[in-house]
Amino acid sequence: AKLRGKNTYHLFEPRLNAMVSDRLNLENRLRKALERQEFLIYYQPKVDLRDGRMKGMEALIRWQSPDEGLVPPDMFIPLAEETGLIVPIGQWVLDAACQQAKLWRDKYDPELRVAVNLSPRQFQEVDMMSLVSYALSNSGLTPDGLELEITESLVLPNLNEASSILKRLADWGLTITMDDFGTGYSSLSHLKNLPLDYLKIDKSFIMDIKSEGEDATLPGTIISMAHSMGIGVIAEGVETQAQLAILRRLNCDYIQGYFYSRPLPERQFEELLANPRRL
Ligand code: C2E
Ligand code: CA
Ligand code: CA
Ligand code: CA
Repeated sequence: AKLRGKNTYHLFEPRLNAMVSDRLNLENRLRKALERQEFLIYYQPKVDLRDGRMKGMEALIRWQSPDEGLVPPDMFIPLAEETGLIVPIGQWVLDAACQQAKLWRDKYDPELRVAVNLSPRQFQEVDMMSLVSYALSNSGLTPDGLELEITESLVLPNLNEASSILKRLADWGLTITMDDFGTGYSSLSHLKNLPLDYLKIDKSFIMDIKSEGEDATLPGTIISMAHSMGIGVIAEGVETQAQLAILRRLNCDYIQGYFYSRPLPERQFEELLANPRRL
């Protein structure tokens, strides 16, 4: 649905409501989308601040809908999570991202790592070890090529069990990253029993950094606490040179954001791999 002008708002709204509130309809359309393979993955670079080079990428799902065009994940992931459809969708993303990463590793960079988002429901309902071992053996990707992005809401309902599953995955060689850090209720000490390699500072905190003179207390605190625990830090949502400068000064390890690159469809991402750009 596109907004063509101011006066079309009254037309737009009922249509949007009908679309969004009709959950059953959306659920059915998501099922069909899965069957018809209408999902695709965009990739966004993760850049190492030590040398300014891309070291990996996050897989971000999109829905190429014949009716609506390219639908962003915030429009359908929450419902997929509620209905359980996130289980097959999440498995599709994991398998597809591993296959792609394997191809790109062989062709461009043997150390490239792909990060896949896990949802709480997926983590609860699926045996992660078999899900991951299938994705790896099916693609030929080695465990060091796969990073899992988890959230506080995924681990908090059962911290002990989550921790033991994640430990097994980490022992296997996967990289584990806590996403959206700072938005939840837990402190870092709360999470000290989790085998975390990285924390990703939520973009809302990065966006608060407007100019270089400004203090960046929260990101600064997160970074020094994480480092004191042996955990690396990624900042997401980095859009400006000023934000980059501050994050460098704070010893942030990796950045992700529009400043370096938006999430890109497969072919465009591959162009970036073929012509690497330094930050
Ligand atoms: P997320 O995991 O926190 O992903 C980061 C979001 O920030 C992405 O939105 C990304 O496109 C956006 N972003 C990256 N750089 C910038 C920037 O510089 N500025 C701004 N304003 N935004 C930036 P996207 O792709 O729309 O994804 C939204 C959310 O959907 C993700 O948030 C994640 O929670 C969920 N999601 C996406 N793909 C998957 C998936 O395969 N599985 C699951 N379970 N969730 C997914
Ligand atoms: Ca993420
Ligand atoms: Ca995030
Ligand atoms: Ca987020």
